[in-house]
Amino acid sequence: MPRDLVILACAECKRRNYTTTKNKKTHPDRMEYSKYCRFCNKHTPHKETR
Ligand SMILES: [Zn+2]
Repeated sequence: MPRDLVILACAECKRRNYTTTKNKKTHPDRMEYSKYCRFCNKHTPHKETR
């Protein structure tokens, strides 16, 4: 199973808050996830970084 580790960074403060894995065959493009950022104290879009 080719699951790759991805890092999710808050779009507002740029902090890397989450790591997750995803299957690049099902999601080959860069994904955005709405996650709670404890530095911004709210939900923000989190983008994949490398
Ligand atoms: Zn943030």
